[in-house]
Amino acid sequence: MASRKLLLLPGDGIGTEIAAEVEKLLAVLNEERSAGFETETALVGGAAYDAEGVPVSDATMALAQAADAVLFGAVGGPKWDGVAYDKRPEAGLLRLRKEMELFANLRPAICYPALAEASSLKRDLVEGLDILIVRELTGGVYFGEPKEIQDLGNGQKRAIDTQVYDTYEIERIARVAFDLARTRRNKVTSMEKRNVMVSGLYWNEVVTRIHKDEYADVALEHELADAGGMKLVKSPKIYDVIVTDNLFGDMLSDIAAMLTGSLGMLPSASLGAPDAATGKRKALYEPVHGSAPDIAGTGEANPLAMIASLAMGLRYSFEMLAEADALEAAIAETLEAGIRTGDIMAEGCTKVGTSAMGDAVAERFRAKLTA
Ligand code: NAD
Repeated sequence: MASRKLLLLPGDGIGTEIAAEVEKLLAVLNEERSAGFETETALVGGAAYDAEGVPVSDATMALAQAADAVLFGAVGGPKWDGVAYDKRPEAGLLRLRKEMELFANLRPAICYPALAEASSLKRDLVEGLDILIVRELTGGVYFGEPKEIQDLGNGQKRAIDTQVYDTYEIERIARVAFDLARTRRNKVTSMEKRNVMVSGLYWNEVVTRIHKDEYADVALEHELADAGGMKLVKSPKIYDVIVTDNLFGDMLSDIAAMLTGSLGMLPSASLGAPDAATGKRKALYEPVHGSAPDIAGTGEANPLAMIASLAMGLRYSFEMLAEADALEAAIAETLEAGIRTGDIMAEGCTKVGTSAMGDAVAERFRAKLTA
C-alpha cells in the first residue's frame, strides 16, 4: 500500500472542529481506495503558543517539511490579542509559508449551482463558475525594498513601497499556472499593468517566453489587471486560470471569492517549488476563512471549505484526480440535497451542524468511490 503523509494542523477556534470532518474523509479513502493516508496532528497558532510558548514549534516545522502535504485549519482569536507580535497566532502560518517557500497561492472560485442565489451576481453569470486564481505570494510590492517613510526635511514626508520582480520569480509562478491549466480547461490569463508599470511589461515578457518555450499547447491571453477586475464581475466564466502578482492577486482573488457567496465554502492552496529528486511540490492547503471565534465550540461551523481544501490536496499533491472530482461532486450533491450549515442556510433546506455536514459528504463520497 502506498504511504501518503499528511500533517494536520487544526489550529484554533473552529479549526479543530472542521479538521475532525476531514479525518472522516481520509478514513473513507483508506478503506475504499487503500490510499495509505497516514496523518499526524500537531499544534499551531494560539493553541501552540499556550502549550509550547511559540505559534509553531521547530518540531512541528520539521513535520511540515517532511510531510507530502499540510492541511491547516485556522488560527487566532481574542484570547491571544495581547500576545507579542512575533508570537501571535498568525506568525505560525507566516513561518510555515516562509520556510516551506510557498510562493504560489491558489484560490479557486467555484460556484455550486445550489448556492448560486448566495452570490451578489445574477444566477446565470455565476452558476457553474469554476476559475482558479494563481497569485504570486512571496515577492512584489509587499516585500520589495526600499519600503520606508522618508522625512524630506521641508515638512513633507515620502512613503515608498517598491514593486520588484526577478526573472526566476515570474518564471516559476508562470509554470505553476500553465501546469495547473493542463489539469483543467487548458487556458491561462496573465494579468498585469504593462501600460503603466515596467514590472508589468517584464512580467508580460517572461510569461510570453515561458509559454512559447514550454507550454505552447496551453491557450494564453494577457489582460490589464483593471480590465480583468471588471470582466471578473461582468463575465467571470470566460476565465479558467488567472495568473498575477502579489498585489493584484490579493484583490482579484477576493473579488472572485465573493462571486461564490460564502466564506465557509472557499478552499485555498499554497505551493512551493518542485523537489529536484522527487518532483513533488511542498504544499499547504487551508480554508480561506479564519477561526470564527463567534461560533467556535457551538458545532455550527461549515466544514466545506476545509473539505474542499482536502480535495485540492488530492488533486495537486497526491495525483488522485478521480477522487478529487468525486469529493467535489459529493459536496455539490450534499448541497443539492438541501443540507446546509447555518451560514449558507436557505428557505426549504435542512439545517445541520458541522459533524452532520461532514457525515453527509462522507456518505456520498463513499458511494461514489464504490459505484
Ligand atoms: P473569520 O473568517 O474567522 O469569520 C468571519 C465571519 O464568518 C464570522 O462571523 C464567522 O462566524 C463566519 N465564518 C467563517 N468561517 C465560517 C465557517 N466555516 N462556517 C460558518 N461561519 C463561518 O474572520 P474574522 O472574524 O475576521 O477573524 C477571526 C479570527 O481568525 C481572527 O483572530 C483572525 O486573525 C483569524 N483569521 C485567521 C485566518 C487563518 O488562519 N488563515 C484567516 C482569517 C482570519
